[in-house]
Amino acid sequence: MVYDDIVVGSGLAALGTVIGLPKNRRVLILEGKPKGTLSFYNKTHGAPCAYSGPGGLGNYWHGVIALGLQSNFGNADSKDFICLFKRFYPHTDIEPLLGRSNLFVPWKPIRPATAFKRLQKERQNQITRCPQHAIRFEVSDASITVHTTETRFSAKRLWIAAGALGTPALLDNSFEQKISRDKISDHIICYVGQVTQDALATHTLPATKHTCDGVLFPAFYADNYSAICTLKPARFAFRQLDYGIEARSIFGLPTGSVITKLARSCSPGLLSEALYNKTGLFPNAERYSVYAQLPVHDGYKLRTGKYPLEPESETIYRAIEKMHACQPFEQLLRTRRPELFIPGIHLHHSVTNDALQRININSEKSPIQIVDASIQETIGCDHHSFKIMLAAAQKASASC
Ligand SMILES: Cc1cc2nc3c(=O)[nH]c(=O)nc-3n(C[C@H](O)[C@H](O)[C@H](O)COP(=O)(O)OP(=O)(O)OC[C@H]3O[C@@H](n4cnc5c(N)ncnc54)[C@H](O)[C@@H]3O)c2cc1C
Repeated sequence: MVYDDIVVGSGLAALGTVIGLPKNRRVLILEGKPKGTLSFYNKTHGAPCAYSGPGGLGNYWHGVIALGLQSNFGNADSKDFICLFKRFYPHTDIEPLLGRSNLFVPWKPIRPATAFKRLQKERQNQITRCPQHAIRFEVSDASITVHTTETRFSAKRLWIAAGALGTPALLDNSFEQKISRDKISDHIICYVGQVTQDALATHTLPATKHTCDGVLFPAFYADNYSAICTLKPARFAFRQLDYGIEARSIFGLPTGSVITKLARSCSPGLLSEALYNKTGLFPNAERYSVYAQLPVHDGYKLRTGKYPLEPESETIYRAIEKMHACQPFEQLLRTRRPELFIPGIHLHHSVTNDALQRININSEKSPIQIVDASIQETIGCDHHSFKIMLAAAQKASASC
């Protein structure tokens, strides 16, 4: 059977693509290896950098959606943003907040597996999900053939959403020339320091707002959107400067049930912070930890082997220093451990866009489109995944 569209990948970018495709298209989703495995940033296994099976990292993400519209990959207008948001969170009116620095933290993050099931129901079996790993693809005049570990499939068009690490590997296997970059960019999360409740009086602190679907948290952009800062009530041992980032560097960004894992860690400060992150409850404290999320261009070298990312320490520290110089709080007790950071797990820019042009991928009329963050040279400081989904949906719907 020749499909209309093959989508490689089954994470959030693939989901956005399938949402955008017209209802009557016969779509095959190659989900990745049936028995998925996590890859990690380093040996501590504190933060995963890829998941090779159905759902991708979308099985683990926290679901945070930034409402600022600075990095708006597909030039989506606010109507499109609201429409996609409402598909998942129909009871939250984000329209008045769109473009501001709020972060929406849902009770239930968008999970690709559930969302694909819903789409299959809506589209009366036009969508086939197949847990197979694509090894390479080839293009002929009439169609595109994708070879998997078990068989091969053909379609008129190919959408590549294999993730920031999976997409370059698939491209390099499919062409004689190298398409992947040697480096990759990411966000890092670092500790800026502490501010007291009194010092904050000079800032108009927007309150957290609860909706039926989640919590809206305030955030603060540093100079010219170079970083986004959040405040977390500092309690228990976390009242001590730097204790929090030292603990978080050990635990990383836990996957699965964050609260259960942290409860086992017996760190009341960390548990209290995680509870606030998820629920927004008990926001008032005498002092707050200030964390910043910022992009680091070419922050890692790409390498083969079990741990595919090697940190470019100098580049990362330079980015941290720059952020400290423009953090938005006047009376801040500065961290003494600026070198500590947690990977943001927002990997992007892992393929060379010039090389893509040469092989006619991603041009307006090309039957092969890449829709994940591997092609994004910059993502700004915001959480980008929902916006990547939105851009993928727009690209897919505009192409038909
Ligand atoms: C703990 C955690 C918390 C996070 N929180 C947030 C957050 O709050 N907000 C935010 O914006 N982002 C967050 N992220 C980042 C977010 O999860 C990722 O940016 C997003 O999931 C990437 O989606 P993707 O579809 O581009 O790629 P991936 O999720 O990496 O999916 C790639 C897919 O491609 C498949 N694949 C790969 N190679 C092949 C192949 N050759 N053949 C077939 N299939 C293949 C894989 O099986 C997978 O299904 C978080 C990540 C983690 C781990």
